[in-house]
Amino acid sequence: MPSKIDKRHKEIGGRHRALSRYHMIVHRVENAHLPRNSGYKGILVLVSKDEFIEWFMPRDFPGCSVDRIDNKGHYQLSNMQVIPLTQNVAKDRVIARDGVCRCYSCGNTKPINSFAVDKRRQNGRSTICKACDATRPKNISEEARARALNAQRVYYRNVTKPKLQALRSTGL
Ligand SMILES: [Zn+2]
Repeated sequence: MPSKIDKRHKEIGGRHRALSRYHMIVHRVENAHLPRNSGYKGILVLVSKDEFIEWFMPRDFPGCSVDRIDNKGHYQLSNMQVIPLTQNVAKDRVIARDGVCRCYSCGNTKPINSFAVDKRRQNGRSTICKACDATRPKNISEEARARALNAQRVYYRNVTKPKLQALRSTGL
């Protein structure tokens, strides 16, 4: 089954695909403060772009995924292997057994119905519990909206209003 990434960068074993994978890894690690990526907290990318490309290209295959052999270890050649994405997801994200799942964000084990349905996942559930998921994009956008609104208010108070007052004081 071709993944989204495979469709975007069709040339398996190509340099462009390898580079794109490298950027994805760096992006995840650098955004380790986000709930979705909190599993990467403390993880470092100890492989250079060129080293990665050289390593990845001959190992590439459709639907492949870069895996850290030791999940607590860094991204370095000695701790990396290429495995099917489905296997990777099953390995380090969701542990679903006896109707419970472990949330990849908070690390808590919760009943399966605490996880949203997600058809992309092997067990059909999201890797992040509903409680963690609810705090994620909504709060970010609300915060961004509040910031934008405040900026508008400040602009009105400091720029628009004094201009209007100045205009009025001239008797226009
Ligand atoms: Zn959670």
